Amino acid sequence: MPQPLLFRNARIVTPTFTYENGWLLVRDGKISAFAPYSAPAIDDADVIVADDLTLLPGFIDIHAHGGNGFDVMDGDEASLIGIAQYYSRFGVTSFLPTTWTDTPDNTLNALQAIAGLQNKQIPGATILGAHLEGPFLNTDRCGAQHSDYIRRAGKREGNAYLDLDVIRLLAIAPEFSQNQWLITEAVKRGITVSVAHSSASYGEIRFATTLGLSHATHTYNAMTPLHHREPGVVGAVLSIDNITCELISDLVHVHPAAIDIVWRTKGKDNIVLITDSTKLAGMPDGEYHFSHQDVEMIDGTIRIRESGTLAGTTLTMNQALHNFMAVTGEPLDNVWQTTSWNPARVANVIDRKGSITIGKDADLVLVDDNMSVFMTVVEGRVVYQRPVD
Ligand SMILES: [Zn+2]
Repeated sequence: MPQPLLFRNARIVTPTFTYENGWLLVRDGKISAFAPYSAPAIDDADVIVADDLTLLPGFIDIHAHGGNGFDVMDGDEASLIGIAQYYSRFGVTSFLPTTWTDTPDNTLNALQAIAGLQNKQIPGATILGAHLEGPFLNTDRCGAQHSDYIRRAGKREGNAYLDLDVIRLLAIAPEFSQNQWLITEAVKRGITVSVAHSSASYGEIRFATTLGLSHATHTYNAMTPLHHREPGVVGAVLSIDNITCELISDLVHVHPAAIDIVWRTKGKDNIVLITDSTKLAGMPDGEYHFSHQDVEMIDGTIRIRESGTLAGTTLTMNQALHNFMAVTGEPLDNVWQTTSWNPARVANVIDRKGSITIGKDADLVLVDDNMSVFMTVVEGRVVYQRPVD
C-alpha cells in the first residue's frame, strides 16, 4: 500500500458541501477522512500543501479513443497503458477505452486487451471496462466511423462481445429492429445502453427507452437534429427524463448556445462531459491515418480529408470542464458532477468512485481556478504531479 497522503489548506468539493479550507486524508488507497480548517498531525503521511487549489473527485472519461499516438484499436496492453498515463496528466483517474467501428476480429481483439487490464493497477488512470461505440450504428450518421464496417447486430457477434464481461457502455443505433435484441440483452447484463450515430425518430427513441436505453452519445453530433414537427434524437434525449447526455465541450463540435440548452434541459445530474479524444490528442498538427481513413489535424481540430467531417477531438477532461463552466457561467460547486459523479453512474461504479466520500477510492485531482492540473491521485497513488517551473 502507498504512503498515506494528507492534503492541507485545500478547497474540497464534496457531494454535500464545499469546504473553502479543509484537509483530507488518504489511507490504504481510500478516502479516509476530511474536515474543514486545520489538519491534524498524521505522523506517517506525505503532506501536500494545497494553498489556493481545489480538490475534486478525479475525472472519469467514458468516451475515450486514445491519445499521445496510442489508439484503443491498437488492441494491445502497451497502447492502453500509454493512453492511461497520458490521460492522467489531465486529471483523469479512470476511463472506458472506447472502440471504433471495425471488423469483428479487430473489435474482439481490442475488447480482449481492455479485459486484460480491467480494474488492474497500472501506471495512470484505471481502466473500468470498455465502451463499445459501433459497429452497430447507422451509416447515414457515421461521422468518422467507417461506413464499410457498420453492420446490424448479429447474435453470434453481439454475444461474443458481451461474453467477455468487459463492456460497461454500449453505443448503438436503436432504430434497426435487428439491433434491438442487443439493447435488451445488454441492459439485462447491467450494461448502460446509449443512442449513437443514429437517424432514429423521436418515437423510436421513446420505444428504445422501454427496452432500457438510458444514455446519449455525444449529444447533437451524429444524430437526428431537433425539428419542431419531428423532434428527432436530439429532441428525445433532451426532453425525456432519465436519459443522461454526453457532451463534447470543445467549442468546435457543439456551439456554446447549444451547450447551454443541454445545461438548461438536463441540469447537473444528467450531463456527462467526455473528450471523445483520439490518438492525435497530444500530437502535433499534421496528416494522419486512423479509423481506416486519412485525416488532417489543424490547430488541434481533426477532419477526414475527403469529406471534411469532424473526426473526434484532441480535448482533455480538465479543458472540457473549464469550457463548460465558461459557457454556462456556473461555479464548480454546481457542475463538478459532470466529470465524475455522472460518468460514475453511467459506468456503474458510483459505489466506489465519482465523489469525495469517506470509504470511496482515493481518486482525486488537484486543480487551480483555470482547471490546470497540479496532481492526480489514483486509488491513493500519485500518478501525476505537475513539474515545478
Ligand atoms: Zn467516439
